[in-house]
Amino acid sequence: MKSKTNRRPLTLLLMLVLSALLAQPLSAQTNIEVVSSTWDGKFRDHLTFNLEAKSSAEIVEVTLYYRIVGQLATSRNEATFTPGQSISAEFSIDQTKPENYMPPGTEVEYWWKVTDAAGNELKTDREKLTFLDNRYDWQLLQNERLTLYWYDGDQAFGQALFERANEALDTLGTDMGIAIKNPIKIFIYASHRDLLGAINSNSPEWTGGQAFSEHGVVVIGIESNPGSLAWGLNAMTHEMTHLVVHQATDNPLSALPRWLDEGIAVYNENQNELVADFKPQFERAVAKNQLMTLRTLSSPFPSDPVEANLAYGQSGEVVRFIVNHYGPEAMAKLLDIFAEGALYDEALQQALGVDTDGLDNAFRQSLELPPLPGTQIESAPAANSEAVTEPAPNAAVAPAAEEAPPAENNPAPQPQEKAPVVNEPPAQPEPAGATGLLPCMAGIVALLLMGGLVYGRR
Ligand SMILES: [Zn+2]
Repeated sequence: MKSKTNRRPLTLLLMLVLSALLAQPLSAQTNIEVVSSTWDGKFRDHLTFNLEAKSSAEIVEVTLYYRIVGQLATSRNEATFTPGQSISAEFSIDQTKPENYMPPGTEVEYWWKVTDAAGNELKTDREKLTFLDNRYDWQLLQNERLTLYWYDGDQAFGQALFERANEALDTLGTDMGIAIKNPIKIFIYASHRDLLGAINSNSPEWTGGQAFSEHGVVVIGIESNPGSLAWGLNAMTHEMTHLVVHQATDNPLSALPRWLDEGIAVYNENQNELVADFKPQFERAVAKNQLMTLRTLSSPFPSDPVEANLAYGQSGEVVRFIVNHYGPEAMAKLLDIFAEGALYDEALQQALGVDTDGLDNAFRQSLELPPLPGTQIESAPAANSEAVTEPAPNAAVAPAAEEAPPAENNPAPQPQEKAPVVNEPPAQPEPAGATGLLPCMAGIVALLLMGGLVYGRR
């Protein structure tokens, strides 16, 4: 008898607890119901999200959350709707505004939160969309590393670009130790005009291509004729190299020295010799002992087109020197250290055994140029002696009298301040100097130097 009286209240209590446990989530979920969730987009115009939902109580709040895949920040937005038990809510991102720009191929993850007057809440599952430039009929070639999109030109045109892009990725692996982190997308627009119509409206007119490292996207304008293709193969390689290098090395603390960032991109265009655009200017500077200092090349490049051309060419040659003289492992180590956010001199010292001036002097020595004024050539650092292949382009006739390099106007700040790009909310404009967006200066350089081009490279 005793046990019987004791058991009943316990059972009742259990039932109460159980029913409370069961009832709580059930009522919260069943009261609000999603009827439909859709999106609709037109590139450079709008990206609109729609939700239809109903509930037994009045729906009072509808919020759309979205995140650009590759970025950490989530954007929270109140949708517009008329409160009621059955609602139709909308949130639209105005793609005509520069601050809302999304490059083609942007992947967006989104979800909704709906709240009713009874305090019930419903959060939908996360969904993902790819925002393509749907004004064109894209063809594509794809593997696990990259997807190449183009709409003008035959299969051979696309194939040539696709193969070159894959070769470029291979070289980054073998010569720099860089493995691609996330698959990338390359969009080939058929003209400069089409390209300008696809990139942010605040981009400079001369832009020939852009790399969006956070989105894993490269856009570039290449006409489908042999002359443009030859240009485009190099320009595409240059831009996508920036993207992959940034994916591998970006950190909140510091950016790569400019010469290393641009030098890898130039080197990757042609691993055997400096590309023709930059070669004459570089050889002239070597012959006249007018190379720029590596410290100068650590900060933004000069705006003067002739000096900028030299800056690109010299940077490419310094990178070739590192790969050939110190070896791919040393280059890989250098990039690994930079990925941690190291100071320039520290990183170089750890990976190559020389600081910026020491590397500069070793490079100059390989060209038979005298050391930098006020410095001494260090004894050759512990280089991998078997890998030493001095590039020695054009035996330098160095008139020792000529000293001052042309552009000493940019004392190199060390390290470069960099905005923590990853924390930027997706709908905000890229901060100035952010590495997410890399319109390369070389575009205007080639344009001004070569005169006849419709638009520049890089
Ligand atoms: Zn570049």
